[in-house]
Amino acid sequence: MKIALIAHDRLKPAFVAWVKKHEAVFALHQMVATGTTGSQIKAASPGLDIQLVKSGPLGGDQQIGAMIADGSVDAVIFMADPLTPMPHDVDVKALVRLSTLYNIPMACNEATAELMVSWLARMVSH
Ligand code: PGA
Repeated sequence: MKIALIAHDRLKPAFVAWVKKHEAVFALHQMVATGTTGSQIKAASPGLDIQLVKSGPLGGDQQIGAMIADGSVDAVIFMADPLTPMPHDVDVKALVRLSTLYNIPMACNEATAELMVSWLARMVSH
């Protein structure tokens, strides 16, 4: 499976720690991440195989959207900040739309991301 990982700035520290906590599961999959999120995850979890695209505000979210459209991303974890207005708010909406259109799992908070990790762990053991 190829999982896209994205977190807005305020949520990055908790998300990086959360990925590290689940490093054993993520190590069994491929990942793609927006530039800053991915760099911080790599620094905290150097063993993970993470492809980096551009930073989100510079088009990275849209690059991941294109990957959803061409079938190369199987699931998305997007920790979108619900309390901070951002110049690239529309990119969040675009990713929700494409994940819905292509019927791939998308987690937008930790509770759903936990469910996704359980599913990813099972996926490998079957
Ligand atoms: P970043 O992009 O990981 O490069 O910060 C995420 C975003 O803000 O969409």
